[in-house]
Amino acid sequence: MKSVLIGVGQAGGKLARELVEYDERMGFGAVRGAVGINTAKADLRDLPFETVLVGQDRVKGQGVGGDNELGAEVMQADIQEVLASLDGRVTAGTESIFVVAGLGGGTGSGGAPVVAKELKRIYDVPVYGLGILPGRDEGAMYQVNAGRSLKTFAREADSLLLVDNDAFRSAGESVTEGFDSINREIAKRVGLLLASGESVEGVAESVVDSSEIINTLRNGGIAALGYASAEAAPDAEGNINAVMSTTRRALLTGSSLPDATDADAALLVVAGEQDAIPRKGVERARRWVEEETGSLQVRGGDFPLSSGRLATLILLGGVERSDRLEAFMERAKDAEAAEAANREERADPGVQWGSDELDDLL
Ligand code: GDP
Repeated sequence: MKSVLIGVGQAGGKLARELVEYDERMGFGAVRGAVGINTAKADLRDLPFETVLVGQDRVKGQGVGGDNELGAEVMQADIQEVLASLDGRVTAGTESIFVVAGLGGGTGSGGAPVVAKELKRIYDVPVYGLGILPGRDEGAMYQVNAGRSLKTFAREADSLLLVDNDAFRSAGESVTEGFDSINREIAKRVGLLLASGESVEGVAESVVDSSEIINTLRNGGIAALGYASAEAAPDAEGNINAVMSTTRRALLTGSSLPDATDADAALLVVAGEQDAIPRKGVERARRWVEEETGSLQVRGGDFPLSSGRLATLILLGGVERSDRLEAFMERAKDAEAAEAANREERADPGVQWGSDELDDLL
C-alpha cells in the first residue's frame, strides 16, 4: 500500500523517520514520501525529509509545552502551509496517508486530528492515524491529553491505529532508549503491513492486496497491529505449527495494543519464503483468529519474502470495545477529574470542567 506519512510533533516526526528508514533498508518502496510538522524548531532538525514549522507567530518556534488545545489552534491557523507541503507528494499512485503522532503531548496530540480532518476534505484516499498512547507512568497531563486527542483523532481519521507505549517496553531501559526500541518495533510492524499490500512479481495467489488492508479498517474506530516471528523450516509441512504459534503470539503478546482482541475485522498476513508457507497452517490460524476476535471478517494472505524466518502480522479493525482501551479511557477521565478538583481548590476561573466525560478537542 503506497503511503505518504505526516509526522506531527516530536514523537510523530521520529516515528515517521523510523518508518522511512525501515522501508528503505528493506527495499520495499511502500513509503512514498514523508513530511514533518512541528511547533518546536529544534525537533525538526534531524528529520531527513521536508519539514513545516507551524505557529511561529504564537510560539516562536519554541513548541506548545504540552498544551494540545494550542496545538490544535496553531495547526488550524497554518493548515494551508501544511497542505502545500503535500503538493506533488500525494500523487495518483498514493493509496493511503498516515498521520503519525504521540497523543500525550501538545503539538501532535492537538495538531494530528486537525491535519486528518483537513486531508479528508481534500483527498479521496483513506487517511489513517498512527497514534501513540502514553505509558502508565507518564503524568496526568499526558493521560488527559491523550484521552481527548484519541476521541477526536478516531473520529476525524478513517481509522486510528494505536500503539501503547507500555506494549514494547523492556526492563532496564531508559525512557529514551525505550522510545527508540518502541519506534523500531512499530516501524517493523507498520512497514511490513504497508509492504504486504505491494504486488510481488511472479506470485499470483494469496498475496495481500491494499484493498484488504482498507477493507479491514473500513468500519473506522480503533485498530491494532500484532507481530511475531520464528525460525522457519525449509518446507511448508514443517511450518504448520510455527504459523499457529506465531499467530497466537502476534495476537496475545505481540500486539501494539495489548489485550485488545475483540475486533470487527482482521487481516492475517503470513510472511516468509513462498514455498515454506503452509496452506493448511494458514487456514488453521485464520480460523483461530476468527474464534479469538469474535469476527467473521478475517481476511488472510501471504507475503512472499526472502527470509529464513516466518512471521505473522495481524491487523485488527474495530477494537474500541476492548478492556485495555476502556481502562485507558478511565485513566484519562480520572486524571481529568483530579485536575478539575485541583483547579477548583485553587479557584482557577475560566475553565469549564463540568462533566466527567472527556471533551472533544475540535
Ligand atoms: P509533541 O511534540 O508536543 O507532540 O509531544 P511529544 O511527541 O514529545 O510527546 C507526546 C507523547 O509521545 C508523550 O506521551 C511521550 O511519551 C511520547 N513520545 C515522545 N517521543 C516518543 C518516541 O520517540 N517514541 C514513542 N513511542 N513515544 C514517544
